[in-house]
Amino acid sequence: MNDATPFGCQSAPVLRERGQHEVFCGLTGIVWLHRKMQDAFFLVVGSRTCAHLLQSAAGVMIFAEPRFGTAILEEGDLAGLKDANDELDREVARLLTRRPDIRQLFLVGSCPSEVIKLDLARAAERLTQVHAPHVRVLNYSGSGIETTFTQGEDACLAAMVPGLPSTDAANLLLVGALPDVVEDQARTLLAGLGIDHVQVLPGRRADQDPAVGPNTRYALLQPFLGDTAAALDGRGATRIAAPFPFGEEGTTAWLRAVAEAFGIDEATFARVTDAPRARARRAVAAAAETLAGKRITFLPDSQLELPLARFLSRECGMEPVEIGTPYLHAGLMGPELALLPQGARLSEGQDVDRQLDRVRADRPDLTVCGMGLANPLESEGLTTKWAIELVFTPVHFYEQAGDLAALFARPLRRKRILTDPAP
Ligand code: SF4
Repeated sequence: MNDATPFGCQSAPVLRERGQHEVFCGLTGIVWLHRKMQDAFFLVVGSRTCAHLLQSAAGVMIFAEPRFGTAILEEGDLAGLKDANDELDREVARLLTRRPDIRQLFLVGSCPSEVIKLDLARAAERLTQVHAPHVRVLNYSGSGIETTFTQGEDACLAAMVPGLPSTDAANLLLVGALPDVVEDQARTLLAGLGIDHVQVLPGRRADQDPAVGPNTRYALLQPFLGDTAAALDGRGATRIAAPFPFGEEGTTAWLRAVAEAFGIDEATFARVTDAPRARARRAVAAAAETLAGKRITFLPDSQLELPLARFLSRECGMEPVEIGTPYLHAGLMGPELALLPQGARLSEGQDVDRQLDRVRADRPDLTVCGMGLANPLESEGLTTKWAIELVFTPVHFYEQAGDLAALFARPLRRKRILTDPAP
């Protein structure tokens, strides 16, 4: 992007695709949610396929006391020959007896449990009555039918909202599961601005659940939390509209929106943010040397595509060719659309073959896509980046801005070394 690039895509046409999609399912969210919520257990009610997905996606946890598992639906359950509810109750009782440290139990629905119409909401109510007050049992769906992998977190957090305690106090709620160290950085910045009474959904433990009410203002940390936002609106809370805290500019705009909502003056804002802003700019500049002028396409996968395209174009000088996203939530994405460079092709939803045809025609320097599509594209000489890495890596706020840019620079540098090994 250069200084003459016009910005603002609020009224740009959006190509809507409704075809075959190829993404991980919502069970994937368990991999980062179980790390965040330290007294929670995620019990997937699913098939051996679901168990294999979790084991391979979260294989590293094999060395730790696991906080997720799968209640396998056998063929007899699927054929309706056995009462899956009785088995589920027995399985939960066994688990909670063995693991008294569990305070929140999530029954996570899957494609098989949805196909046999196992009513996990009723099961959660029934099991809460049995195991309260020590354990709270909730349910949500991580099924891969018509969903994408980040929706698992959205469904989980939305399921928590009705049970959050009520308050009339004026509080700030940060919404989204970030690594503890990044969450702590955000809290430090907000404390510096003089905003206290900050709570986070999800809390690290059940007794740290945030309270919500008509004087709660909330700021989303992730762009894929549309259902959670709707549930919080339903509790009377007010969303602070802002770009998402990726990169120096996004972080500053996010903090500024929060600061304005709480009446923080400009001098305080500058005192708290000037130094980390300068650090972030320097760190981004180091990686931007590799990224400037390069063309990038996002295939729809993580729902982080719009904020990342905004960061890469405005702070790193990249040119977005196509920005595909599984869902384009106009309300949550308004501030991002306003900052995107005009001319990028926007698409919503997936139709894999047509999208791959466009990638082949465009031949961008870098394609951000799901793991299943990366290898075929690499074999055609295209450089790729796995979208899923972006939810497993700390990338929010000032101190991670350089790392975020470096994540995209790395595959381009590798490509350069492979094609031109001379120093
Ligand atoms: Fe596969 Fe569906 Fe289980 Fe996900 S929930 S692993 S898509 S069967």
